[in-house]
Amino acid sequence: MDYFRLRGIGVSPGIAIGEVRLSEEVIFTSRKESIFPHQIKEELRRLRKALSRTGNQLIRIKKQIKEKIGDEHSFIFKAHLLILEDKSLNSEMERIIKEEECRSEWAISRVHEKYQKIFESINYEYFRQRKSDVSDVLSKIYRNLESAKQKKMVDEQEKILVAHDLLPSEAALRLSKGNVLGVAIDMGGQTSHTAILARSLNIPAVVGLRNVTQRVKDGDYLIVDGTDGEVIINPPLATRREFSSKKKKYDDYRKELKKTAKLSSSTLDDVRFYPLANIELPEEVSFAFSLGAEGIGLFRSEFLYLQTPTLPKEEDHFSIYSRLAKEAYPSPVYIRTVDLGGEKSLPQLKIKKEPNPALGLRAIRFSLRDKDLFKIQLRAILRASFLKNIRILIPMITEIEEIEEIKLLFQEVKEELKLKREKFDENIPLGVMIEVPAAAAMTDVLVKEVDYLSIGTNDLIQYYLAVDRSNELVSYLFKPFHPSILRLVKFIIDAARREGKEITVCGEMAADPLSAIVLLGFGLRKFSMNPIFIPRVKKALRSVEYKTVKNIVQKAITLKTSQEIEEYIIEKILVKHPKAFLMGQIT
Ligand code: PEP
Ligand code: MG
Repeated sequence: MDYFRLRGIGVSPGIAIGEVRLSEEVIFTSRKESIFPHQIKEELRRLRKALSRTGNQLIRIKKQIKEKIGDEHSFIFKAHLLILEDKSLNSEMERIIKEEECRSEWAISRVHEKYQKIFESINYEYFRQRKSDVSDVLSKIYRNLESAKQKKMVDEQEKILVAHDLLPSEAALRLSKGNVLGVAIDMGGQTSHTAILARSLNIPAVVGLRNVTQRVKDGDYLIVDGTDGEVIINPPLATRREFSSKKKKYDDYRKELKKTAKLSSSTLDDVRFYPLANIELPEEVSFAFSLGAEGIGLFRSEFLYLQTPTLPKEEDHFSIYSRLAKEAYPSPVYIRTVDLGGEKSLPQLKIKKEPNPALGLRAIRFSLRDKDLFKIQLRAILRASFLKNIRILIPMITEIEEIEEIKLLFQEVKEELKLKREKFDENIPLGVMIEVPAAAAMTDVLVKEVDYLSIGTNDLIQYYLAVDRSNELVSYLFKPFHPSILRLVKFIIDAARREGKEITVCGEMAADPLSAIVLLGFGLRKFSMNPIFIPRVKKALRSVEYKTVKNIVQKAITLKTSQEIEEYIIEKILVKHPKAFLMGQIT
């Protein structure tokens, strides 16, 4: 019982304490068990039985997942069914049994090994992921060689799930069962499917732990601290007590947050503001609203492309967008057209490797190159807009010519839909993201061309300060309080307001209580962020007076460094509004 602490990335806040359940991974066999020629027929029958059990299982799970958490998650099982029915895979297994006169376990393992090698030799991350789908299906067949009676009882107790990696299929299946207290995973990052799902189901999770699976065994005692990104294996009693009380504090805080969700979104001097949610999956809508979101300020539509090996069809887009529109109705949903390309490239998009992806064929640049794909997305968004609560948002605009081109395409799509007598919102608002410095500098001109603006501070800071947003070596330079950033953001907000146009911030700046207060002082009213941060931002904005903040930030932007600015704002705001950051540091 070794006590050990591991650091990872906390992707879903909260604390879970309990016993380990290791994800049951099938270890394919390296031992060839031979059979006699007269047994081959029987062995083939055994394999076919396992195949048919697997098929039935997949159909059952697909239905279950569709009912529990939505159709988009069940597509993985459709893909698995296709793999299961793959003729070459099946005949390869049968061939091995016949030719090598061996058990099915050996045949499946050989086929598994062969496919792993093929997939590993492919240079695309996306296809490497498909490799695990094949593993997933083959391991199910392998397990099904034993009949249900022979298998041990499934453990239904509440435990902490520990796994090397979780495929979207497993994540959806396991986390929706209601018996997972927390999650600890070797692989993964903030935006992995498991992370998103754990957040929306309120299950504490830490990913990127590298080797937690090698350090624990079933039944070990574990603490998962999803807030601080730590996992503690077999903690001594004192540590258990410490974390039990931390858990209680967090659970109380969570209840407090729920209460905040129901309070009005206005400052002490009654200035109304709107907390909105950035989401990537449609099933995050209800979670976001439960935390106080008053609309979906950013739907990152890329996820649709990341989930299927082929390109999504118009109907795939349409079913997601109309579900979003219905679930959020009457609140608004801002659907951002795909921000793909660059480093978020996929083989099916046929984009060549670029020397400088962040400055390359990304987002709207990619959409305008591949207009047919872009029109499919525009058409689906328009068709889903008949409830009149959808807005279209275009990422990474650099120049006005792009907006002109988009408007032409948009018009074409509208005409096509009219010819087909399809219903849609004629006045659907068209907005652009301000995240390229050139667009920011032109805001006063550019804003006249669109219905609204949304500032993507993550990219705007990256491009304005020339600091790669995901490069740890230069992250010390990524400063939202850099005087140049504050001046630029103020300039954008002023320009939009002067023109009477709506303006939102949907980058991380909106999620931080201090910078949200500064943005409020600049005149911003719409703050879009990861839903888990809504309560703390709402609480901070409710605790201040707009008038006071406005004066404080006016003086702050005349200071020279980000440190001076930050210190000045904190000091002044704390004097006036001591409650403003009370909950800031907890999530
Ligand atoms: C941004 O750049 O601030 C933004 C919200 O877009 P993304 O993080 O998806 O690039
Ligand atoms: Mg961006």
